[in-house]
Amino acid sequence: MADAHVKNPPPAIDGNALVSMCLSRAGIDRMFGVVGIPVTSLANRAQALGVRFIAFHNEQSAGYAASAYGYLTARPGVLLTVSGPGCVHGLAGLSNAAANAWPMILISGSSDQSLTGRGDFQELDQIAAVKPFSKFSAKATDITEIPKSVFSVVDWAVAGRPGGTYLDLPTDVLHQTIDESEAERLIAEALKSRDKALIEKPRIDNSKIKKAVELLRSAQRPLIVFGKGAAYAKSENELTKLVESTGIPILPTPMGKGLISDKHELAATAARSLAIGKCDVALVVGARLNWLLHFGEPPKWSKDVKFIIVDVCEEEIELRKPFLGILGDATEVVGMIHKEIKDDPFCLGKTHPWVEAVRNKGKDNVAKMEVQLSKVVVPFNFLTPMKIIRDAILGVGSPAPVVVSEGANTMDVGRSVLVQTEPRTRLDAGTWGTMGVGLGYCIAAAVASPDRLVVAVEGDSGFGFSAMEVELSDAYDGNTNTDYYFGSNNLNLQCFSSAKSVYAFIWPFQTLVRYQLPVVVIVFNNGGVYGGDRRNPDEITGPYKDDPAPTSFVPGAAYHVLIEAFGGKGYLAGTPDELKSALAESFSARKPAVINVTIDPYAGAESGRLQHKN
Ligand code: ADP
Repeated sequence: MADAHVKNPPPAIDGNALVSMCLSRAGIDRMFGVVGIPVTSLANRAQALGVRFIAFHNEQSAGYAASAYGYLTARPGVLLTVSGPGCVHGLAGLSNAAANAWPMILISGSSDQSLTGRGDFQELDQIAAVKPFSKFSAKATDITEIPKSVFSVVDWAVAGRPGGTYLDLPTDVLHQTIDESEAERLIAEALKSRDKALIEKPRIDNSKIKKAVELLRSAQRPLIVFGKGAAYAKSENELTKLVESTGIPILPTPMGKGLISDKHELAATAARSLAIGKCDVALVVGARLNWLLHFGEPPKWSKDVKFIIVDVCEEEIELRKPFLGILGDATEVVGMIHKEIKDDPFCLGKTHPWVEAVRNKGKDNVAKMEVQLSKVVVPFNFLTPMKIIRDAILGVGSPAPVVVSEGANTMDVGRSVLVQTEPRTRLDAGTWGTMGVGLGYCIAAAVASPDRLVVAVEGDSGFGFSAMEVELSDAYDGNTNTDYYFGSNNLNLQCFSSAKSVYAFIWPFQTLVRYQLPVVVIVFNNGGVYGGDRRNPDEITGPYKDDPAPTSFVPGAAYHVLIEAFGGKGYLAGTPDELKSALAESFSARKPAVINVTIDPYAGAESGRLQHKN
């Protein structure tokens, strides 16, 4: 027996394997990224342990995917990158997570510690580079530090206000080895020493709940505003109960849309200016009073409005100085407010003057918009195709598609025309107005919600940032159910990867298609950023006056052909019939498709609705 043991020593666990084991134990089930030196083995090992690795072309898109995955699942989305430039590309996703308050972990390989400062391959002080965007960073300087580092970045990402965290893994640490029992001991120890306080939710002050109820009860014109913090907290049931028992009108922020259906009779979206301009008490749940909500100030809001802010972040409450701030999880706080009201109920009722005013204004505005939408304008303006898309999306029913929206005019028009009926079915440029998120968000949504169709409605400029990722959405999943026993040796992994390359050689067409995600990307193609050349004559001078305008792309670009390079389906649509037929076919196929919609280059406005900022 002793001899046999010497001949077959237990397999050594290297840093890559240990990180994968820890991620899996921490409940991480998906990872997005781009592999290369020194993290390829990490991705393979993680995948073998059941952490599905979604391989992108560009870390920027993969990072956007990780950030949105964190939002949609309320578990950290993980982005894996190589060292140096890979980490820098990953900052796009990390900063987007920080700005939107979504949980995400950036994991980057880094150069060999013994060569620091001597110009090693892809050398960078990555801890310093991520600092502005990371709420917590850890560097494992030795393999024994890996478990604690992994669990800390996971816990910090979701703690308090969610955000981005960073894990730095030097090449030499990834190559160090320990035996299996030592690995298990370190994992157990790290799990035991996890900082429980980090993941505990703040205690809610009951006296503030009572005060909030009194304010709402005595208000003449109350309003409930909810945002993507409430969507992240999955507050839909509690909000619905509160709204329906009190009859208070509701206003979602763009990504709060769908938490309660846009079609709800108390929805004030179509009467937004009236609702925020005239309300006297506003209960704001999981939404910041930032630029999207006009900072909560006149002239958009009344100067006397009393804000009740519900947020999980104390600094946020301190910053806004509301009439009443309630620190706590949105779902819990709204649940407590509802319970408090239930003991002594009040309801505004349909004939309440405020409810009636909001309803009538909303109806008026909807009717006016429908008149515009019913006009068939060809060459397409933004409204005609948007109405067709709205109706096609509504026609899908439940589960409703996830809509990904980006662009200037495309996103602005989409926000007022497209209808959200279910929670977390809208992803857009968000707090930071980030362009280029489209394909990353589509892939994250398809992975997070496999039962839903994903429909991106984006401008050609937004699409261009990440168009190459259509290859991914158009992909065959031949590898997610691999039953691989972790305790076996390196040889197994090698056999596994060489079997894959044989497969690739024999079935070239099948390997062109990777993950088969039900994503339909609709590109509003107006030939540029904001569309056609809008320069004044005095701006078209100088030595480069014959160059295309900085806002111009190639007119009539055949974006639909891009996806066909990978075996997907492309459509060109310039008329209502062509668009309807492309939508019907691609929605029912639930297969990757790009619909290239030809828009009049002069239909939109420069900078969309934010012209005053440009
Ligand atoms: P929106 O863009 O929809 O207005 P924001 O991103 O500006 O939303 O605001 C979301 C807010 O929600 C942030 O201030 C964040 O701290 C807060 N938040 C995040 N998670 C929770 C939660 N579980 N409960 C309450 N608030 C939350």
